Amino acid sequence: MEKDFFEPLPKNAKCTRCKKQAIIRLPSHNAKFCRDCFIHFFETAVKRAMKKIRVSKNTPIMVAVSGGKDSLVLWEILNRLGYKTKGVHIYLGIGEFSEKSLDAIKNFADQRNLEWVKYDLRDFIGHSMVDIHKKIKRKTCSFCGKLKRQLLDMATITEGFDVIATGHNLDDEAGRLLGNLLGKRLHYVNKMYPYLPSPHPKIPAKIKPLYRVDIKEILIYAELNSIKPVDIDCPLSKGATSRKFKMALDLLEKEMPGIKRNFLFSYIDSNKPISTFENYNECKICGYPTYLELCNLCNIKKLLQS
Ligand code: AMP
Ligand code: ZN
Repeated sequence: MEKDFFEPLPKNAKCTRCKKQAIIRLPSHNAKFCRDCFIHFFETAVKRAMKKIRVSKNTPIMVAVSGGKDSLVLWEILNRLGYKTKGVHIYLGIGEFSEKSLDAIKNFADQRNLEWVKYDLRDFIGHSMVDIHKKIKRKTCSFCGKLKRQLLDMATITEGFDVIATGHNLDDEAGRLLGNLLGKRLHYVNKMYPYLPSPHPKIPAKIKPLYRVDIKEILIYAELNSIKPVDIDCPLSKGATSRKFKMALDLLEKEMPGIKRNFLFSYIDSNKPISTFENYNECKICGYPTYLELCNLCNIKKLLQS
């Protein structure tokens, strides 16, 4: 994980907010911060996101925790801001990566006395992600994403929650927006809002409280708060196309600081989520809501049998 964000700043570099010695420079905000003012800046950005998302502090939030930097920071900050949370982890069975992810979550939750629950992919589908990868190879990330999404939704409802939060950040969302626009996938673009109400009693509302902060800011917040995420990448996700869109935006951001935020926020601010009460069918096998004949879980189960 890169830690070059604490670049040495000149002795006379002053914090934009309090004028003390600055230790962090954020070109996209044209600002420099000392430790405390950075934390204030970061927490204000997430508070602003939660204000737009409009989930009250009385609504318990299920937090999807992978063990990575985004989801641990998400869990930390929601608790600090006074939300009631419970973590949920989908155990995928990807060797050392999954074991280390579990360790990171366990350590984090134990230190803070937080409640969480684990759901094991194999209990639902009879295979680990590694088995699935052997069978389908190139489409692993897409299948994994679909399985995680359905299991997270199912777990949220099973645990008695109405809302699930994920750690998607500004880079994820801006990259996805660019990819969808370039790929003419307007039906996906229309679902990009950071708050999607529940479209069906079996599907929770989905929120992305970190959509206003970028990877660098999240890494700094994790470092300043001694949050220790899993330190290896998923070995199955090499070459995911989503990375290319993020790289393209990083290139633009370097030349024009702030452009990534403008791109995402101007889209979000001028678009409301499309009507969410869509026509669902019931999965022919398990009855779960789906647009197709089979839900993602049953569809992939069937593919694996063939
Ligand atoms: P990714 O699609 O892997 O970038 O993950 C995006 C978000 O989905 C993370 O920030 C988490 O909130 C959630 N997530 C990813 N993987 C898992 C997992 N195995 N268990 C629970 N939540 C996950
Ligand atoms: Zn099904």
